[in-house]
Formats: sequence, C-alpha cells, structure tokens
Amino acid sequence: MAYPSPKDQIPVFFEDTSVAFASKSDAKLRKTYWLFSLMNQARVVNLGTFFIKLALKLNLPIKNLIRLTIFEQFCGGETINDCNATITLLGQSGIGTILDYSVEGEDKESSFEATAAEILKTIDKAASSKTIPFSVFKVTGVASADLLEKIQRKDPLSEDDKASYDRVKERVERLCSHAHDKSVRIFVDAEESWIQGIIDELTYDMMQKFNKEKAIVYNTYQLYRHETLEALKTAYLTARQKGYFLGGKLVRGAYMEKERLRARENEYFNPIHVSKDATDTDYNLAVDFCLEHVEYISICLGTHNEYSSQYCAAKMKKLCIGQNDDRIWFAQLLGMSDNISFNLAKAGYNVAKYVPYGPINAVLPYLIRRAEENTSIAGQSSREFLLVKSELKRRGIGSL
Ligand SMILES: Cc1cc2nc3c(=O)[nH]c(=O)nc-3n(C[C@H](O)[C@H](O)[C@H](O)COP(=O)(O)OP(=O)(O)OC[C@H]3O[C@@H](n4cnc5c(N)ncnc54)[C@H](O)[C@@H]3O)c2cc1C
Repeated sequence: MAYPSPKDQIPVFFEDTSVAFASKSDAKLRKTYWLFSLMNQARVVNLGTFFIKLALKLNLPIKNLIRLTIFEQFCGGETINDCNATITLLGQSGIGTILDYSVEGEDKESSFEATAAEILKTIDKAASSKTIPFSVFKVTGVASADLLEKIQRKDPLSEDDKASYDRVKERVERLCSHAHDKSVRIFVDAEESWIQGIIDELTYDMMQKFNKEKAIVYNTYQLYRHETLEALKTAYLTARQKGYFLGGKLVRGAYMEKERLRARENEYFNPIHVSKDATDTDYNLAVDFCLEHVEYISICLGTHNEYSSQYCAAKMKKLCIGQNDDRIWFAQLLGMSDNISFNLAKAGYNVAKYVPYGPINAVLPYLIRRAEENTSIAGQSSREFLLVKSELKRRGIGSL
C-alpha cells in the first residue's frame, strides 16, 4: 500500500484494550460482546433489520428491545438530557462529546424548523459544558434534499422553491451565527455528491461570515472523491485571500455504494476513487496538507482508521505540534473504535465521540447502518468484535 509515511516512530498504541474498555464493567463488556457477535453475522443482521422494520410498522412493542441492545450501544438516548450520562462517562476519560441529533428522512418545513430548534439546543449545551467541543448538523436535516438537488442541477425554480431556499439559507445562518455568538465550533456534515456542491456553497458563505477570528464553521471533506484533495487546497487559498480561517472535518466518505450505483445508472463519471488505496492515500495527503498549514486550518479527523490516526499523530510530532493543540481533533462514533478514542485521549490528544440521539423510530436508519458496518466481511470478523473478544480474554472472563 503506497502511503506517504513520515519516518517518526508511531506515537500511539491502539491495541491496548484495557484502556479502550476501562469504563466498561465485566457485565457490560459481556453484553457488548454478545451484541457484536450477533452483528458479526450478516444473516442475523439482514433478518433482524427486516423484522424490526416490520414490527415498527405493525406497532409491535419492540422499542424496549431495540433500546436495551443496539440503541444503547450506539446512541446517547432519545432526548438531549438522556445523553448526560454518556457525556459524563466519556468526559471522565478525557473524551469530548459531539451531540448529533440524528433524525433522518423527514421532509416537511415543520420538521426542518423542529430540527433547527433542536440543534440550537445542542449549541447551547456545548456552550455550557467543558466536554462538548463541537456541535454538528446535516443540511438535509433543515432542507429538502430534492430542493438542494434541483438547485445544484441549476433547474429553473418556482416561486415556492425560491421561498423554501431562502428559508434554508436563513436556518443555516441561524445555526452558524448562534454557534459563533456562543463560541461553539460547528461541523456541517458532508452528504451525497449530487447535493454536496450546494452544501459547500452554503458552508463557505458561513465560513466567510463567522471564521474571521478562528475556525467556527467546519466543512466536511470526503476524501473518497477524486476531486476533494484539490478542493481542500483551493478552499484554503480562497480562505487566505478572503481573510478567514478554514475549518475542515476530514472523512473518507459514507455513501460509496449509493454514489457508484447512481453514476452507473445515469452513465456519468463515478466521483469515487477506483480503490481503497487511492482513498487512503488522499486522506493521508489531506492530513499532511492541513497540518502543514495549521496556522490557518483547523481540523478534525472523523475516522476509525488506525493508520490515519497514527499517521496524523506522527506527523504532528514531526512538525512539533503539541498533542493537545486545539486546532487538531480526532473523532469517532459512539460505540465504535474505542481502542482509538481512549488510547489517543490517554496519550493526551484531543478526542471526541459523535453521540447520536433522537426518538428510536427516527434513528433506526442510523442504527441499521452501524449494524451492517459490523458484519463479518468475506468470513473475516469485524474489528470491534475481535477487540471486545480480546478484552474478555485479557480479563479472564467468559463471554456469557
Ligand atoms: C466522527 C465521524 C464523522 C463522520 N462524518 C461524516 C460526514 O459528515 N460525511 C460522510 O460522508 N461520512 C462521515 N463519516 C463516515 C466516514 O466517511 C467513513 O464512512 C467511515 O468513518 C469509515 O471510514 P474510516 O476512515 O473510518 O475507515 P476505513 O474503514 O479505513 O475506510 C472505509 C472507507 O474507505 C472508503 N472505501 C472503502 N472501500 C473503497 C474502495 N474500494 N474504493 C474507494 N474508497 C473506498 C469508503 O469511504 C469507506 O467508508 C464520519 C465518520 C466519523 C467517525
């Protein structure tokens, strides 16, 4: 694999499961093992997903079952206050929380307003807490994806469309301006390529307004796209020319299959790299570029990739950037890659977890994606499953 590799010694060891799972009791660890061993089996996940969807449609009482299993593993709760226990627990290990109101698939003006109101609450909560370093939102949480797509395609807009889009811009500005007033950094999540152009446009407008003194608004860069590394460099130059700081969340990208399918169906050039290697190389090059321009770029690495996390830590060391430099953060999702989060935090790096929350019905698509991600691929057990198993073995306790 052709990674660009700094020669320094790798400064963090991610295999230490005693650190990763220190906050989990034996009973809790056994339960986690049981859950990951179920998710490890693709057939169980497929069947489970089918029955959960059916049961919810038929109003069968399965919410408690979901709550006590997969929801408890990957979500902070149904409401913002339900997340308090998770915020405290993570905080005790020096890990921050990023409250992610994860309601998906709503497409009404009233839901967009309700979502915007909830995100304002997460900003307020971050402002009053030492362990909530960022807030986050998805533009499709406050805007119709169809409308965004229409605008990106430059289709003619009706008067209604224009009025809706004005409301979208107003909502996005309301969130970013509130974050700025409260001095809370805010991530704008990246989405599918057919709406990402317009999300970028909205986000850069906000950066120009609110990033004059420091990075408050962060755009998300999906390095699985061919063009993203160059776009990041251009964004930096534009920010320098216009006199604002660039905030960047670096991710590989979550919509690979969807992107490939749509490109194939509509016969256009697939925007996603041809191989994982190419994505990995661009990801690490993006880390290089940002660290080399850290005076004007603040970043958060949203990744579960151990190599990239170590690569960034090693590169920081090489450039004499302090481990706890507030311009550099690492983030993982709640319930995943604790070996990265807890070991990085213990070594003194800035780390936070996305803590999704929302009503069970509404976060179900998110939960299903997490379950699918943790199934065994080509007979190889999921990484999470193996880590939990190795910690059970280290503690000398059985799985049941
Ligand atoms: C805190 C956090 C925030 C996130 N925010 C966003 C967001 O706003 N938007 C978003 O889209 N995603 C987001 N993600 C998800 C992210 O983009 C990845 O899907 C996920 O983290 C897996 O990638 P990885 O870097 O963790 O690790 P890895 O497991 O090393 O990489 C898997 C990723 O590599 C890429 N990949 C895999 N196979 C191939 C291939 N054959 N060719 C090309 N590329 C390939 C895909 O992007 C895949 O998801 C976020 C993740 C985290 C942890």
